[in-house]
Amino acid sequence: MFAFHSAASAGPARAGVFYTPHGPVETPAFMPVGTQATVKGLDPDELKAAGVTMLLANAYHLHLRPGDDVVRDAGGLHAFMRWDGPILTDSGGFQVFSLAKLCTVAEEGVEFRSHIDGSTRRFTPESVMRIERNLGADVIMQFDHVIPGQSDNATSRDASERSLRWLARCRQEHARLAQDDPAVKQALFPIVQGGIHQDLRREAARAVTDMGDWHGFGIGGLSVGEEKPAMYEMIEVVDEALPRDRPRYLMGVGFPADLIEAVRRGVDLFDCVAPTRMGRNGTAFVPDGRINVRNAELKADNRPLDESCACPTCTRFSRAYLRHLFTADEMLGPRLLSLHNVHFLVRLMRTARETIRDGTFDAWSRDWFQRHNAAPSNSRTGINAQ
Ligand SMILES: [Zn+2]
Repeated sequence: MFAFHSAASAGPARAGVFYTPHGPVETPAFMPVGTQATVKGLDPDELKAAGVTMLLANAYHLHLRPGDDVVRDAGGLHAFMRWDGPILTDSGGFQVFSLAKLCTVAEEGVEFRSHIDGSTRRFTPESVMRIERNLGADVIMQFDHVIPGQSDNATSRDASERSLRWLARCRQEHARLAQDDPAVKQALFPIVQGGIHQDLRREAARAVTDMGDWHGFGIGGLSVGEEKPAMYEMIEVVDEALPRDRPRYLMGVGFPADLIEAVRRGVDLFDCVAPTRMGRNGTAFVPDGRINVRNAELKADNRPLDESCACPTCTRFSRAYLRHLFTADEMLGPRLLSLHNVHFLVRLMRTARETIRDGTFDAWSRDWFQRHNAAPSNSRTGINAQ
C-alpha cells in the first residue's frame, strides 16, 4: 500500500515516487493546504489540472467544524471534498498552540478552548488518532507538542521528549484502530522535533527511527520564527540521522527559495498556506521574486503575470486586468492569483525532479538562486513570517 522508491539523486536531493492507497506522488512534491477541506477558492478539478497530486487538511479545524464524525459519515475526506488523490492530515498540534484561546499542556494531552466558540476541548494522542481515522486521510501525523521556534535547549528538550512519548501512544492507538477495521489503510508519520538544537534534532531523529518501521517522517517545528540558516542546518542534521529509503516531509514550509534549499538537503514533501494566502492578498510568485498586483505601476501593463507560466491565469489575463480585479474587490482576483501561485510551486517541484533525474539539479538551482537573489524584491528577510 505504501512504498517509497528513489529513482535518482543529486547529493542528498532525490527524485522518487511515494505510493499511497489513493495513487502515487512524484517527489519532491508540494502539497497545497486545504485547511477546511478546501484549498481556499480552488476547485479540486483546477488543482488536478495544475498537477497537484496530494493535499493536506487540518484535523484541528475539521474536528471543530463540521466535526470529524460528520466527515466520517460522509464517507471520509476523499468523498466529502471530492478529491480522489492522496490526502495528509496534520494532527492539530500546531493549531492548538497557535489558534486556541487558551491551552494547557499536561502529560495526558492538551486542554484548550476552541477559537470558534470558546468551548473546552481536549486532545490526547489517542483522541487525535481517532479524529484522523474518522477523517480518513492516507497519511496521518502524530500528535506533537509544538513550541516557539527560538525556544531554549531545556524547553525544546522537554517538548521533544513529550512528543516522543506521545508518538508511542499514537502508535499504539493507531495499531488498535487498524486491527478493528483493517480495510482502512493509513500511514502514521512521526514528527522529528528539537527546535533549533542540533543535539536534540539528532536524538529525536534516532529515537523515532528506533521506535518503529515508519512509512515516512515529518520534520516539524521549523519555519516558526527561527533564522533561515538555523532551519537549513536543522534539516541537514535530520537528513543525516533519518533512514534514506523513506520520504521526509518538511511541515509548513512553502516559499520557493526554501523549497529548493530543502530539496537540496534531502526533503521530499512540503505543505504551506503561502500560495493561496498570498494569492488572496494580491501577491504572485514569479521567477524574479514576487509581484504585488495592487501596484499602481501595473495599471496599464498588458503583459501576463509570468511570461514563462502556462497556467490559466497567465495564458488568459493581463497584469492590468488582475490589478483591476483587486482594486475593485472582485472575487475572481484572489482565485486567479491563488491558482497561479499553486501552478508556480508545482512547476518548481516538477523542474526539481526533472533536473535531479537528468543530472542538472546543481546547475539549475544555482542559476535559479542567482536570478532570485538579483531581484530587489528578494533582498528582504523574514518572508516566512507571512
Ligand atoms: Zn501563471
